[in-house]
Amino acid sequence: YKDGEISNSTHEWFSRVHPEDLADFNASIGKHIQGETPHFESEHRMLHRDGSYRWMLTRGLSMRDPEGSAYRMAGSQTDITERKLASDQLVYDAFHDGLTRLPNRALFTDRLERALERAKRREDYTLAVLFLDLDRFKVVNDSLGHITGDQLLVGVARRLETCLRQVDTVARLGGDEFVVLLEDIENVGHATATAERIQEQLEENFRLDDNDVFTSASIGIAVSKTGQDRAQDILRDADIAMYRAKSMGKARYALFDETMHGRAVELLQLETDLRKAVDREEFLLHYQPIVSLLSGEIVGFEALVRWMHPERGLIFPAAFVPLAEETGLSIPMGEWVLREACRQLQTWRAALPSERNLWVSVNLSSRQLLQPGLLRLVESCLQQTQSDPASLHLEVTEGVIMAEPEAATAMLVGLRALGVGLPLDDFGTGYSSLAYLHRFPITSLKIDRSFVNRVASGGEDEVIVRTIVSLAHNLGMDVIAEGVETAEQLERLTALGCEFGQGFYFSKPVPAEEASQLLQLPVAVLA
Ligand code: C2E
Ligand code: MG
Ligand code: MG
Repeated sequence: YKDGEISNSTHEWFSRVHPEDLADFNASIGKHIQGETPHFESEHRMLHRDGSYRWMLTRGLSMRDPEGSAYRMAGSQTDITERKLASDQLVYDAFHDGLTRLPNRALFTDRLERALERAKRREDYTLAVLFLDLDRFKVVNDSLGHITGDQLLVGVARRLETCLRQVDTVARLGGDEFVVLLEDIENVGHATATAERIQEQLEENFRLDDNDVFTSASIGIAVSKTGQDRAQDILRDADIAMYRAKSMGKARYALFDETMHGRAVELLQLETDLRKAVDREEFLLHYQPIVSLLSGEIVGFEALVRWMHPERGLIFPAAFVPLAEETGLSIPMGEWVLREACRQLQTWRAALPSERNLWVSVNLSSRQLLQPGLLRLVESCLQQTQSDPASLHLEVTEGVIMAEPEAATAMLVGLRALGVGLPLDDFGTGYSSLAYLHRFPITSLKIDRSFVNRVASGGEDEVIVRTIVSLAHNLGMDVIAEGVETAEQLERLTALGCEFGQGFYFSKPVPAEEASQLLQLPVAVLA
């Protein structure tokens, strides 16, 4: 307002303070006049000429007569609307997920704690937590890119909201994990019905950038009737149940029950043991021969890690490699594998005539490939064992590359520059990355055994193998057939032009000493 547009009475001033802020405003003036505060200060909203409310910071100091009673107040009033909005935004951001705008873990935990308080006070109050994890989200991310992955998460968030009541909370914990709080439900049936509704909602395709993307979720449900549980315990129980749902097959839900604790504790124990295993070097390598289909000669060995557990005996990679990767233990484990395989190669080389070809193939995990120190590690292994770089092969899968295609490709280029071979493992099971294949400095394709399995029965898999072989050859790569189990498969694969084979037909993976004996066998025995 301009001077003179409104009166200068205190009443005028007070009447412009937002009704909701007036009580606090009056109280702090009162306190100052009573001499309880050295000056007056208040943040409050005030009516603007245009009809909106603006945030004000008002400060004042009273002037007092000789008796000490206030007769006048002087001060200032500052428009702090911008700052206030910015700090509101900060608070909002602190409690919401930036991508989906859903509440985040902090806000969810807060709401869950309040709901638990209510459950404690009311006997008939039941609440449930649904823990949701998208199935195969990584595949979407890897094959269609992070942007599409993000769009999918937003799409899922919106659909989840449609499945819930006003009082319920859905939050994103991070990645592809969502949680739902169902407050004051009648019974467990309400929770399972909600889980079913969510799964139905997610069944329909998402239209993202001209792609039809399909997803599903595994859901774990934990229920509290007494409110005696702590928020983190309920979340953990729902999480455990979610893992159970996943292991039953995707797109399922599971209700938490106490027996599930056992399994979770077991996993935790395994992780603890795995950490020790790294220090105690409880790993060992088995070697599976790779055979030239032309000559029948062993041309290489794939090193396959095993874990000699002090109590449980020999454990195969499927039971611990994923856990090692998840916990970061795959880095020290992988380093041990690489050094040991190179050392073994050196031993074999020393015993073989110099013209004999022999390589050793080592599997790399995703984390390993993205580890900046990998180049130096490989160099040092080669140097220490005086190995020819070409006699070391490092196997990667499409999944490992596609997790972080740019960084992975850069690393592969570096490895290739060192001269090591780079076979692409489990080829055909991964993502539709055919378009990228020529960009990766891959030296050979290992056809996954799911195709090799069915190659002898004629039919479509034969066409697939034929196509892979010609694709590989056109790109200057050779082909290794994995999982060769029968003479018939071997014959077909040879006819289709595969250079190499690996599988139980030739030999299972065996300890190093046995592998050394295989090397001594006359060529014709294997093929
Ligand atoms: P992979 O690299 O594809 O290794 C081949 C797997 O197929 C091995 O299983 C091998 O025993 C099995 N196999 C070979 N021939 C046949 C056959 O004729 N029939 C059948 N049914 N199976 C056959 P394994 O040793 O249990 O290893 C499983 C996977 O664990 C490997 O698959 C690899 O991805 C991973 N792995 C093994 N060692 C390491 C390692 O040192 N580091 C990392 N990161 N991963 C490893
Ligand atoms: Mg392999
Ligand atoms: Mg393989």
